[in-house]
Amino acid sequence: MAELAYATDSKSVAERHVGSSPTNPTRGLVMKYYLKLAVKIAKKGREDRNYKLGCVAIRKDGVIVAAHNAMAKRMPFYSAHAERRVIRKAGYGATLFVARILSNGDWAMAKPCPTCQVVLKARRVKRVIYTIGPGEYGVWEPC
Ligand SMILES: [Zn+2]
Repeated sequence: MAELAYATDSKSVAERHVGSSPTNPTRGLVMKYYLKLAVKIAKKGREDRNYKLGCVAIRKDGVIVAAHNAMAKRMPFYSAHAERRVIRKAGYGATLFVARILSNGDWAMAKPCPTCQVVLKARRVKRVIYTIGPGEYGVWEPC
């Protein structure tokens, strides 16, 4: 499972979060709210796989935009990625929430792939909050 390789990356392990943080109790709730929204978006994807992926972005101006994975057969694989699709609408300096949902309903690793990471850095994305596993998420700060 190549996608899960990112889970062993030391930064994402160090930044694993479960539920709310003691210093800011609402933070976890807000993160999960947007991740759940990303799950809803993911479920709209029509690709026939054992997982679905969705991405929600809060633009610098506060507008929320979203995308799910596209049909990979119709384009290079990375152009089909939800993060890549959402960033076209999100512009510079956005915050992204990426969720991978398995067919059994569990959250799974959704850290952006290296190709998407380059694009997100170039677009000065502030933070990427991504699902890691059931009830767990990580935070990646590209800039
Ligand atoms: Zn990607």
